[in-house]
Amino acid sequence: MPQNTPFPSGANEPDPLPTVYEDRKQYIQQLERANIDLEQRIQYAEAHHHVTTTPHSPQSVPLPSPGEFENTLKRLVDKIAKILQAEKCVFMLHDIGAATLYATHPAMGFDRDELTLLERRVAEEGVSNEVFRTNSSLITYDAALDPRAAAEGLSRLRIHNAVSVPLVVEKRDEDNRVLERTTVGVLHVFNKKYGGIFVEEDVRLLEQLARQGAAVIASAQMYREVVQEKQELLHTIDSLYAGLIMVGNNGRLLQMNPSARAILGINSTTPLIDMPYARAISDTRIRKIIAAALTSGNAEVAEEVAFTLPDAGVEEQFRERIYQVQCATVRDDDGAPAGIVAIFNDITEIRGVERMKTAFISTVSHELRTPLTSIKGFISTLLADNDNYYDEPTRREFYGIIDSECDRLHRLIKDLLDISRIEQGRAMQMNWASVNVVQTTEKVLAAQRAYARDHVLTLDFPPDFPVIDADPDKMDQILTNLVNNAIKYSPQGGTVCVTGQVLSAQSSGEEPSFIELRISDEGMGIPREHLPKIWDRFYRVDNRDNREIGGTGIGLALVKALTEGHGGTAQVESEPGVGTAFLLIFPIHRAETEEA
Ligand code: ADP
Repeated sequence: MPQNTPFPSGANEPDPLPTVYEDRKQYIQQLERANIDLEQRIQYAEAHHHVTTTPHSPQSVPLPSPGEFENTLKRLVDKIAKILQAEKCVFMLHDIGAATLYATHPAMGFDRDELTLLERRVAEEGVSNEVFRTNSSLITYDAALDPRAAAEGLSRLRIHNAVSVPLVVEKRDEDNRVLERTTVGVLHVFNKKYGGIFVEEDVRLLEQLARQGAAVIASAQMYREVVQEKQELLHTIDSLYAGLIMVGNNGRLLQMNPSARAILGINSTTPLIDMPYARAISDTRIRKIIAAALTSGNAEVAEEVAFTLPDAGVEEQFRERIYQVQCATVRDDDGAPAGIVAIFNDITEIRGVERMKTAFISTVSHELRTPLTSIKGFISTLLADNDNYYDEPTRREFYGIIDSECDRLHRLIKDLLDISRIEQGRAMQMNWASVNVVQTTEKVLAAQRAYARDHVLTLDFPPDFPVIDADPDKMDQILTNLVNNAIKYSPQGGTVCVTGQVLSAQSSGEEPSFIELRISDEGMGIPREHLPKIWDRFYRVDNRDNREIGGTGIGLALVKALTEGHGGTAQVESEPGVGTAFLLIFPIHRAETEEA
């Protein structure tokens, strides 16, 4: 007899008929079989609980679906009611978050509304509450007289008597030793049929059946967790920027995320899962990599593959992406290879910068050598001229060339030092002064005339152009770079013009606060797709028109950084074959914070 079961004095236990026992035995055997089946499924679910990433081959046992659980629970409820000869049967489960006990569906002898009426807080008084809290079984002989049944309002659900047992879920280790016991709810049967009363034998039976019920419920919970984990994992895989493909040992696709589809040019709606990878993937390079990874058994393959992404209207060189394809073996719980995973990482930018750096070293060497060769040539000529073959004007011309070549070397070295300083993230040292931009422009154009035999260099500034707060050397460096580029990239000549403008104030009565400088040429222009890149350090447009023109690819990166150092902005407008204009906007006055 359960310890806290009040047995009314004088109540006799009726002698059950032998046939009833026979019946019950058969039911129990059936249930035991169902239980074994369930436990096998639970073991499976447990084994795969932590490794939902592990691909299981199509031959392995699939997890039971929620529909199957519902059916199993329904069968269990019906059988329990039948075995206990009860009118009603219901599982109440503990909701940890809400601290309540709620009735699960399906139940026997209740409609859905009645089931919601059964819900109650754990801390309240009641039959369900007491069984759950004390973790021991209870017989309610007369619901009308029992205060706990009254508190739970069982009479309004036409409940007269009951057996209630705790639902305990056991966690066991591999040797079947119980590691943990958790009470997850209460199992009730109500109203003994044929006017009978529940007895201690019913309690024993129900406790046994409750173990099976708990197994079903644990299995359902585990199923929900497994499904949820799987969903979370799938969402993560889907939202990965890197491409991901998983292939099982049998060569069938287990996973291909949207990025991988985009890289391989596979329509996002084509169903691929379970298809042989060799059929789904047409790219032979990737097929080879996967085949090698699958056969090696201990794959750690990493290869670089270039793909041309489909995107009409853009030059092919801009659609090429380089991916590092890394494969790794996926293992099951026992450490045996279950398949492979291939990850596609986009390394286009890394390789691009590496390529640009290599090109940079060779162009810088070239850029340094050219003026040095010229300086050395003219000095050697002058030194060898012992008998004054060259007249004074010619000698002066040579000195002039040596002087401007030295300036060129100086500028180049200064640019290199500045860009490396900026690249290291060192703050730009600004020597603020009042700068007359018109005078700076005149000086820069005068210095650049040495390189511009076929060009007209002009400037156009309105009268009373304001003096601005700026670093004079850096202003010179910005204009020199842009005017020099304008000359270099218009090898056929043409006009190079520096135009100044005061940008009108936003509201009347206010002082204008910005100036705009426009450095325009009539040269080769810049193709549209290169425009966003030209500000990157080391970037040079590589095409037929400018292959012969020297340069390091740091000039514009420097112009941008120096302009921004003044609190300004730099933009470009260009049309191939027509010309280019760089637009710089500078504040007339230094920002307050910078002054501080
Ligand atoms: P570089 O040392 O190669 O001139 P820059 O950083 O100054 O490097 O310029 C980057 C690239 O932008 C150049 O290689 C060139 O292709 C392009 N570019 C710059 N200015 C002009 C211009 N005025 N006209 C045409 N192309 C230009």
